[in-house]
Amino acid sequence: MENKSELPHTKHHTVGIIGGGIAGATIAIRLSELGIKVVVLEKGKSLVNGPPICHLHAGGNLYREIDDKQCFTLLKESISLLQLYPKAVDYRPTLIAIPTVDSGDPMDLEPRLEKLQGEYQRLITENPKNNVLGNPENYYKFYDRKEVQYLASIPISHPPENLDEWMMYASKKLDLERLKFPLVMVEEYGLNIFRLAATASISLEKNSNSTVITSANVQNVIAIDTPDANWEIHYKQQGENKQTSVSFLINACGFKTGTIDDMLAVKRNRMVEFKAAYISKWPDFKGFLPEIIFHGTRGTKNGMGQLTPYPQGYFQIHGMTTEITLFKDGLVPTTTHSAQPLLDPEFIRKIEDQWDSEEISDRTHKSIAHITQFIPDFKTATLGGIPLFGAQQIPGDDPDLRTANVTFSKKNYACCEIVKASSTLTAANAILDKLIEEGHVTRKDFPEIAYPITLDISENKIQEKATALCKERNYPAPMASIVNQKTPINCTPIS
Ligand SMILES: Cc1cc2nc3c(=O)[nH]c(=O)nc-3n(C[C@H](O)[C@H](O)[C@H](O)COP(=O)(O)OP(=O)(O)OC[C@H]3O[C@@H](n4cnc5c(N)ncnc54)[C@H](O)[C@@H]3O)c2cc1C
Repeated sequence: MENKSELPHTKHHTVGIIGGGIAGATIAIRLSELGIKVVVLEKGKSLVNGPPICHLHAGGNLYREIDDKQCFTLLKESISLLQLYPKAVDYRPTLIAIPTVDSGDPMDLEPRLEKLQGEYQRLITENPKNNVLGNPENYYKFYDRKEVQYLASIPISHPPENLDEWMMYASKKLDLERLKFPLVMVEEYGLNIFRLAATASISLEKNSNSTVITSANVQNVIAIDTPDANWEIHYKQQGENKQTSVSFLINACGFKTGTIDDMLAVKRNRMVEFKAAYISKWPDFKGFLPEIIFHGTRGTKNGMGQLTPYPQGYFQIHGMTTEITLFKDGLVPTTTHSAQPLLDPEFIRKIEDQWDSEEISDRTHKSIAHITQFIPDFKTATLGGIPLFGAQQIPGDDPDLRTANVTFSKKNYACCEIVKASSTLTAANAILDKLIEEGHVTRKDFPEIAYPITLDISENKIQEKATALCKERNYPAPMASIVNQKTPINCTPIS
């Protein structure tokens, strides 16, 4: 195999990435697939093991409160992420419903959906490879009450192949009296964190340009000045102090990016928020469901409900109330003394150690009750596993910000602050431009999509690794699989 480290477009420079979450791992894949040497230092045992990722926000339709610009960005970024991780995507739509108790009008969603449909068409015209969410004409569809009742009356037993067939399954479960009409189905797919983690681990393991060091807790970073290195990274691995030198440093520490900023005396305003989703098992569930969103006002008892299907009757639930997904004092900003917001020690204990089993049971049952308001049969669901949870960072001071990527506040240093998984490639490409600008990389004409190693990983290998990660992290094995498996158009390996 060709030794990519000797490709002419790189000097002897190495990019050091602290943090192997979805941001650090994706940036490492993008750079190493282009022949740039990277070293990833991850505190945990495996990659992509941070807060949950279950939804590919291809249009931002879960968020009524964000502007069109953020929705367009999320659409474009989601298409790019899907092109990198096609086997981690669950190709099923999302049903959006407005409960009768909510003040919203379903038709308020239409102008934005129409614009998103136009934008998706424009992206396909720009590059036909962007056609990964199906025919733009079917990007969304509204269903009035009569249509929903009609579709509910049609028997179906085969895997759904279009929006109407997904609606046939969903309409049979919904309590139509508690929902406003029309309902809307949109081609926002699912993202499976275990399959993302599996893909990233296998890709970086196979790539001779990348080195991944796990169980490596970075303790300090010191600026140095040698021909090949600008930073010395000091880390602890299994009680031993170690160090490595790199020419460019990427801080991808998720909700802990502030700790590295502090080491470098970089001032930055950001917030971090602790949140959780719950795993339930619906024992008598048969058939298929799309992801279902019941819109609501965040932080009230009628906060948004989100039901995410996995195979074999497992469902992940978010409920944007303080009794379910949100937590009292779970959102904290930076102080004047530090770039790292200080979460209450109770949340750190949950992240680093464990949850009380009583609290898990209590919050999971509340999440089941939240969904049962609209899907009465869901009342038979029970606790299906430990929660998926973590702290998420949000740069600046707008808690509704959903699109952010990277900042460069020092030479040879990038701080990655994504809010959604889809922004990771935007961050990677901005870093690539910076590497060229600062002379770490001399070649300038890198292709926009080039992931030969990642796209060559077989379904079997991903399934095997994802199942092992589920087991290692104590989640039910079926969560390593997706509900609706198909290979989307244009996601064949590009060499
Ligand atoms: C409840 C919830 C649901 C969510 N759902 C979605 C969703 O459906 N779709 C979506 O796109 N996004 C979702 N998000 C957001 C998403 O989880 C985050 O945006 C994403 O995980 C951030 O990735 P990251 O790589 O920046 O950070 P992380 O995943 O937190 O990774 C940072 C890594 O850095 C490591 N690290 C930290 N400090 C050090 C150190 N000193 N030395 C070495 N390593 C270190 C950590 O161990 C960690 O692995 C959700 C978030 C939450 C909380």
